[in-house]
Parts: sequence; C-alpha cells; structure tokens
Amino acid sequence: MVDKPQWKELFKEVVTSGLCTGCAACIVACPYDVLGYDTANGTYRPFHVDAEGGPENCTHGEKGCTLCTRACPRFRDWEPEVDTFRFGRVRTDEEVSGVAADVVLARATDPELAAAGQDGGFVAALLVYALEHDEIDAALVSALEGDGSTWRAVPAVARTRAEVLATSGSRYTYSANLLAYPAAIEQGFERLCLVGMGCMTSAPGAMGARKAGKIARRLSLTIGLMCSKTFDDAIFEELFEAKYGLTRDKIAKMNIKGVFQLWLTDGGYLEVPLKEAHAWTREGCKECPDFAAEHADLSTGGIGEYNDWTLVVVRTDRGRDLLASMVRDGAVELRPGDDDPGAIALMRKLSRVSRRRWPATAVAAPGRLPAPVA
Ligand SMILES: Cc1cc2nc3c(=O)[nH]c(=O)nc-3n(C[C@H](O)[C@H](O)[C@H](O)COP(=O)(O)OP(=O)(O)OC[C@H]3O[C@@H](n4cnc5c(N)ncnc54)[C@H](O)[C@@H]3O)c2cc1C
Ligand code: SF4
Ligand code: SF4
Repeated sequence: MVDKPQWKELFKEVVTSGLCTGCAACIVACPYDVLGYDTANGTYRPFHVDAEGGPENCTHGEKGCTLCTRACPRFRDWEPEVDTFRFGRVRTDEEVSGVAADVVLARATDPELAAAGQDGGFVAALLVYALEHDEIDAALVSALEGDGSTWRAVPAVARTRAEVLATSGSRYTYSANLLAYPAAIEQGFERLCLVGMGCMTSAPGAMGARKAGKIARRLSLTIGLMCSKTFDDAIFEELFEAKYGLTRDKIAKMNIKGVFQLWLTDGGYLEVPLKEAHAWTREGCKECPDFAAEHADLSTGGIGEYNDWTLVVVRTDRGRDLLASMVRDGAVELRPGDDDPGAIALMRKLSRVSRRRWPATAVAAPGRLPAPVA
C-alpha cells in the first residue's frame, strides 16, 4: 500500500490512463523542475525528464515528495475532496452542474469590453474590475501568439486593461493557462486570478485540499469557462483548410453554438457542422466529466437565447461578493437566470453528458462515493 503517492502513481493512474487533461497543475507544483509539458502532435501531457527517475518514476518522489499528486485535479478522489474544501460538503447527485448558490445572466456595461468578449464580456469586465480595485495583481489567461493570425493559443499573464482586452474572446484549442504562473511570480505578483476551463479551475481547490504549498493561496480567484471539449490544433489544416480552403490567417473570430461559427477577415461567414470536427477532439477531453467548471468561484458560459450575455454560475462567497461589488459600481448589468430557463436546462443536460464520460475503471464516478457500509 503506497501512502505517499508520487509521480510514479500519477504517471500510471492519470497521465497514461486517459484521465489526464493536460491542465499542467502538476508541472507548476513540482519544486524540482523535473516535469515538462509535451504539446507535440496534440499531446498536451506532462512528462518526467529522463534523469532523476526516468519517464515513469521520480527520485524526489522516492524520497517522499508528493506535490504532483497533491496538485492533480484528476488524482483518485479529487472531486469529493475539492468539493469539501471549496463548499464544505460533497455535491449531491441532483447537483449535476456542481454546487451553486445562484445562476444569473451578466453583461459588461463598458461597450469596449462587451464587444471584445466572446459572449457578454463578463470575464473581461471582471478582470479589469478586479485589477483596478486591487482585488488581484494579475490574471492567468490565454493569448494568441504573435499577431493572432496563427490562432495558436498560449498561456499569458494579464495585468492591465489593454492586456485583458487583447486576450478576451474564446479559442477552441487548449491553452494550459496555469503555465503562465511562473512568469506571474517572477514579476512579483502574489494575488492571481486563474481563468480556464473546469480541468484547470479544479486545480487550486485540489492544491488547497491536499495542502500542496503556497500556489493555492496565490491562486485566490478562479473563473471557469464551461466546456464540452477542445480541439487539436491540427483541425485548422486538416479540416478548415483541407475541406473549406480556409487558412488560419483568414479567420477573424470563432464561436461554437451548435455549429462551428467562423467569421472571416474578408467579411464572410462560414458554419462547419460540429460532427465534422469531432475527429479532432483533443485526447485529454475524452474522459473529462466536468462541463460547468464545478470548482471555480464563478463559472461562465455562452449557452442560451441571449448571445450578448454571459451565463454565470455563482459558487463561492468570494464570487458572490465580487459580483455584488461589480453590480454596485456599475461594471456589469445582471438579469436573473430565470429569464432564460432553456440555458439552465441545457447546462444541466450538457453536464450530464460530460459526467457519463468518466470511465468505470477510475475511482467511483465523480460525486458518487461508495454507499456507507450498514
Ligand atoms: C475551449 C472553450 C470551450 C468552451 N465551450 C463552451 C460550451 O460548450 N458552452 C458554453 O456555454 N460556453 C463554452 N465556453 C465559454 C464561452 O466561450 C465563454 O468563454 C464564456 O461564456 C465567457 O464569455 P465572456 O464574454 O464573459 O468572456 P471573455 O470576456 O471573452 O473572456 C474569456 C476568457 O477566456 C480566456 N480563454 C479564451 N480561450 C481560452 C482557452 N482556449 N483556454 C483557456 N482560456 C481561454 C481568455 O483569455 C479570457 O480571459 C468555452 C470556452 C472555451 C475557451
Ligand atoms: S490532469 Fe493535470 S495535474 Fe493531473 S497529471 Fe494531467 S496535467 Fe498533471
Ligand atoms: S472538456 Fe474542457 S474542461 Fe474537460 S478536459 Fe477538455 S478542455 Fe478541460
């Protein structure tokens, strides 16, 4: 019986079992810098350097270091552990989209932020507000490399309104935003907001629940993005270009609303059926059970009737207080979630679909602890 699980167990039980999402939490938590990140051919997985234990083991782990497993939001009983740490209890089966205090629709009141955002620009407005009101020092977000024409998403640190504006909107390839953490620390930032899909926004809770050092304390605010899947970067050449003649630089904006919507730089518009894109689903998403970013302070999505509003799930006191301050100061406008019951029903449906992906070979399905012994 291993009571100090380390990289050896993480490699076997998560990295090579299909559960690994590529969130990079283990990499940023490792104090010995023996973990790297492989993005070749759509891999998006951590690897252990050749020295110091080789790919399957770790000499520091053999000596008692367990930080990578303590940071991993897919290791063993991660879901009830993070639920308990974040909310003081485990979600019920009824709470299929995670523990929530409220669901609202929100929109940035600043027209520039609203226009830059993917949906209502709520995330952009929140980041600008939190930076300008000294709630955070910086945010870990996703940027596009270079001038954006390659559509390659890369982790980035945003500290100013201009940087928030430049990094808003959605990319549908993976960006392990946690990898921007070392750059933020190097610049002396202590209070960070992590923006990311559920796979990433469960990481601070996992680190906190398992006392994995000071990273969890620094990641003091988490904003989740609802997510069914991300696509392999090869989709640009192998589908958009091969079938539709669309090179990366001709795409101005993209969204997914039942279909892949592509707005083109020449003013054109194209819809690609989602079933054509399924073959490029990223490996790390295939067994992910979390649609609604269940452990974030606030989770955000674009489903529903109102394209220019963001659906926001309020989960924690921190999220609720920040939202209340933003409303008070006029940074966002709100509508009740009940204005769009279809959006909430769809969120629950998509959450159920994702939860069915959790494999029977892993620990008991997330949220389903074994029945107590009578
Ligand atoms: C890969 C992906 C899949 C999604 N799937 C769904 C879905 O199925 N249903 C749904 O309702 N909503 C989905 N969303 C969320 C939705 O697209 C919006 O991000 C959300 O509604 C917030 O909108 P906004 O206008 O408030 O955000 P914005 O103000 O536009 O801010 C968006 C933030 O997301 C960050 N970001 C953008 N792309 C990525 C990326 N690839 N990885 C990490 N961070 C990123 C940006 O840096 C920015 O900080 C998805 C988002 C992503 C990134
Ligand atoms: S899920 Fe994240 S923390 Fe766990 S092994 Fe994969 S990259 Fe590391
Ligand atoms: S489906 Fe979304 S939340 Fe799940 S692993 Fe993929 S990118 Fe992360």
